[in-house]
Amino acid sequence: MKTGYLIDMDGVIYRENQLIPGAVEFVQALTATGAPFLFLTNNSAPTPEDLAVRLEHLGVHGLSPRQFYTSALNTADFLNETNPNCTVFVIGEGGLLNALHDCNIASDAIQPRYVIVGEGSPSAERLAQAHECIERGAGLLATNPDNWCPVTSDKTRPGTGAIAAFLEASTGRRAYYLGKPNGFMFHRARRKLVELAPGQVEQVVMIGDTMETDIRGAVEAGLMAYLVLSGSTKLEDIGDYAYQPTRVLQSVADLVAEIQTGKASDSLNNTVLIGRGSASKSGQRHQTDVFAFHKPRPRPAMTK
Ligand SMILES: [Mg+2]
Repeated sequence: MKTGYLIDMDGVIYRENQLIPGAVEFVQALTATGAPFLFLTNNSAPTPEDLAVRLEHLGVHGLSPRQFYTSALNTADFLNETNPNCTVFVIGEGGLLNALHDCNIASDAIQPRYVIVGEGSPSAERLAQAHECIERGAGLLATNPDNWCPVTSDKTRPGTGAIAAFLEASTGRRAYYLGKPNGFMFHRARRKLVELAPGQVEQVVMIGDTMETDIRGAVEAGLMAYLVLSGSTKLEDIGDYAYQPTRVLQSVADLVAEIQTGKASDSLNNTVLIGRGSASKSGQRHQTDVFAFHKPRPRPAMTK
C-alpha cells in the first residue's frame, strides 16, 4: 500500500516560467518509487496535454496527460454527472471548451442551462451575452473561485472568480464555484488517483502553496495537507486560518529523501511545532526570503 500525492502546480512545481529547485528530483522520486500522483490545478485554460508539454519544456519529462486534473475537467465531470443533457454558454479557453466537448455538452448562446466561467479575457460583448443568458434563466457556474492569479513575482491578473463576481453583480445571481477547494474537485481527484494505481492507494497527501484552496480543500476532504512556502503563502500568515496544514515545507525538495527511502523525516516541521506570532519566524527551515517570491505589498486572499 502506498501514499498517493495530489500536487498543485503554480508555486509548487514552477513559478513564472521557472522550475522551483528540487521539483525535477521530486517528480523523479515519485516516478522511481511508483508512487501514484496527480497534478491538480485550478487553471481551466490549458488541457492536460498542454500541461504535460509545458512541464516537458521546463525539464520534467515523461509525464502523461492522465496525470493532470484541471478545474475545467472537474466542471465537465460535474455537469456530466449532475445534468448530462444540459447546454452551456462558455466564457473560457481551450482547456474548458475541450473538457466540455469531451463530455458531449453542447454550446447554446440563446437559452443555455448554464453560463460557465473559466480563465480568460472576455470582451465586454461576451460578458454582455453571458449576462443576458443569466437574465433569461441560465445558472452561473465558475470553474474555480480564484479572484487573481500570479503572472510574475510582482504581477497578477484577474482570475475566474473576478469574472464570475462581475456577472454576480450584474445579474444578482450567485455563482457555484467548482475547482479547489470544492469537495467535488477533491473527491474526483482522489478517485482518479486510485484509478492510476488500483488497490494501492492507502492514504492521500495534497501538496499546495495556497491556504484557501489547496489546504482548505484537503482538510475538508479528510486528506493530509502539506503546505509549501515556495509560492503564495508566507509562514507568518498561516496562523490567520482556522484550518491548518498537516506539515509546512520550504518546497517539494524537502520530500525527495523521504519518498526515496520510504521513511518519514523527523527534520520536517509539523505545524504543532511552528506556533504563532513572531516565534514562528525563527528557524532556518522557514526562512522564505531566499526564494524572493513574496509579494511587494499585501494581497487579499485568493478566494473569498
Ligand atoms: Mg498554487
